[in-house]
Formats: sequence, structure tokens, C-alpha cells
Amino acid sequence: MAERQMKRVGVIGGGQLAWMMAEAAQKLGLDLVIQTPSPEDPAVAIATDTVFAAIDDATATAKLNSDVITFENEFVNLAALAEIQPPPKFCPSLRSLAPLLDKFYQRQYLQDLGLPTPGFAALKAIDTATLSQFGFPVVLKARRLGYDGQGTIVLKDLAALEAVLSASAFDPETWLLEEFVPFERELAVMAARSPQGDVVVYPIVETQQVNQVCQRVLITPDVGGANRDGAIAAVRSIATTLLTNLEYVGMMGIEFFLTSSGRVLVNETAPRTHNSGHYSLDACETSQFEQQLRAVSGLPLGSPQLTCAGAVMVNLLGYESATCDYLAQRQKIAAIPRSHLYWYGKSVSRPGRKLGHVTVLLEQGDRSEAEAIAQTIESIWYG
Ligand code: ADP
Repeated sequence: MAERQMKRVGVIGGGQLAWMMAEAAQKLGLDLVIQTPSPEDPAVAIATDTVFAAIDDATATAKLNSDVITFENEFVNLAALAEIQPPPKFCPSLRSLAPLLDKFYQRQYLQDLGLPTPGFAALKAIDTATLSQFGFPVVLKARRLGYDGQGTIVLKDLAALEAVLSASAFDPETWLLEEFVPFERELAVMAARSPQGDVVVYPIVETQQVNQVCQRVLITPDVGGANRDGAIAAVRSIATTLLTNLEYVGMMGIEFFLTSSGRVLVNETAPRTHNSGHYSLDACETSQFEQQLRAVSGLPLGSPQLTCAGAVMVNLLGYESATCDYLAQRQKIAAIPRSHLYWYGKSVSRPGRKLGHVTVLLEQGDRSEAEAIAQTIESIWYG
């Protein structure tokens, strides 16, 4: 029997990722029903219906009353979601999310699939042999709920590590220890899988972080530099293997380290649309937001092809705690040729908070062109 045409898509999370689904939802004739804690959250304005509740409140999820429920935020309570009666249709399924939400289990899952990751260990099992294998600096990571570098601590020596471990509030069960990777570049990719098992992989991009927060995403043909071809092949193969083994349905973002010797290591996965895929709104045949809605509502996947020579995306991060709307800076940035500015409408700015982003389509597609444009934007934005 043919499946009934999907109409209502529930979305757990009402931040900018849900907000940016609006145009695609309209195009595809879908209604978005959003679960989010606050009426101030960006996606409330575009929702057909809203359930105001915490992201991990499964009783609220039960009230989304949708044909399918997807995620813009993975900080959910999987066990509680699994108890909902009758069970809603989740895309991706709870089973494919299960190995991903805790970074330690995620690394184990990747390792079991033979996919390359940095060396890692559960903190409760830490011993001097592991430490001497990893050396210093070493990275401590929160196993759950980390974002924008919150929950990632680089420790330069044993004294620094011991100081953190001995803090009274520190719970070793909730952290993992990881080898520090002296990467040459950081890469990322978006990939989608349909219920029928088709996988599409978007262009591989370079991300640039400052203080562990993504500032820029460069979409240029020379991604990976001297190691370009090997890196592209490795990333594409990892993305396809991972989504296929998880029987995943929807969009996933995957972040990588590329070392100077050309090794590609998976840093982390995001089981949803992702900041490193925002460029696809303006630079690809199918945006990551449309692709997510296509995959979860059973429509054929669209082409991830670039429609331009390249692009650069710059995050507009808050740099003061205020109800500042940065209007003068936004107007200047919007006047840059071939720019597309998105302002998420958050009412309060905090340092490092993602308030908006701008994508500029490149004329030539060179990395140097992308970096020069990013610098222009940042000098307008940060003054
Ligand atoms: P989050 O989930 O908060 O984004 P990440 O694990 O992606 O945390 O870490 C944020 C940034 O910190 C990365 O993009 C990278 O720049 C740096 N980082 C994280 N882990 C490592 C590591 N093992 N070695 C070197 N740098 C790292």
C-alpha cells in the first residue's frame, strides 16, 4: 500500500536550523510543528504549530502530532522518546541515533566500522600507558551536550590535566580523553540518505575555527590542498559507509581533521543539518534544509551539486552581551556583491552566539578569494 503523503513534520528544536527549513517546507507543501523551550526562539515565527517545552521533554514530543518527527537538536532523551505510545515515526530513527549522541560511544561505533578517529579513552579508565601514548597536549571532551567548543578542553601538560580531574565538581564518567590532532586543516561534509538507501554527498568544505568555534566555511575546489584528491575520496567513502551502516534517514554533518600527511580522521558527527552546510542555501541545487525535508518525508533526494564556482560562509557571532541588533554592520555586509545574509532574529546577543551568517558566492572559486572576502566581512563585523 502506498504511504500516505506526509504533511506535518515535527521538529525537535526551534533554533536557526529549524528556522531555515521554512522556505523548503513551503516549497514542498509541508507544515512544520516545532518543539522548543522559548517563544523567543527563531523557528517559532515560521512554525504552523509550536509545543513549548525543553528539547529533552518526551511528553511534549508526544504532542507534536505529526506524520514524521525529525531533529534540529540532538540533545534529546532517547530512552524517554522510545517509551512514547503509539511510537511516532522518527527520522532518523532512534536506533540510528543511539550510537551517536554520546561522543565516547560514537567514537567506538566509528572504530568498529573501521573508520579513522583520533585516539580516545574513557576517562574513568585513564592510566599512564594511555597518557604516554597520547602525549600532550591532550583533549578532554564532554561525552554529551557539547557544542561550539563548550565541553572541549585542550590541556597542555599533566599538571593542567590533574587540576581539572581533581576539581570537586568534575565527574569523570561524563568526559572522554582524546589525542590532540595537530591538523593541517579541518574539513566537513553534509550527506543525506533516503529511506530507500540512496546516499548523496555534498561538496567537501574547509572549516576554520577560532577558540573552537567555527568562524568560516570555505567551499572551493582546492579543499584539502596538496592532499585534495585523497581527502575527498576518504571523506566521501566515510560518509557513505557511516550513513549506510546506521540505516540513517535524513541529513548528517560530519567533521574531520586532515593531517599534513594526508590522513583524514573523523572528529564528530551531527545527526541533523549543520552550520557547515549553510552555504547550500545559496550555492547548491538543493539546500541541506530541503534535503532534510525530502529525506524524512520520503521524497526523492535532490542534487547536492554546486551552482557556482565556490562560496564562503562567515558566521556572524555575537561579541557583546546586549540586545544589540548590529544593524549598521549588517547593512554593510548585505551590500557586498553576491552576498546572501541571514539574520536569525535572536533577541539577545552573547559573545560567541551565532546570530546570523552570510554566504558570498565566489567569482573565481580560489581559496585566496574566499579568505579575502571572509576578512572583509570580519573587519566590518568585528570593527
Ligand atoms: P563541539 O562539538 O563543541 O563543536 P568539537 O569536538 O568539534 O566540539 O571541538 C571544537 C573544535 O576544537 C574543533 O573544531 C577543533 O578545532 C578543536 N578540537 C577538538 N578536538 C580536537 C582534537 N582532538 N585535536 C585538536 N583539536 C581539536
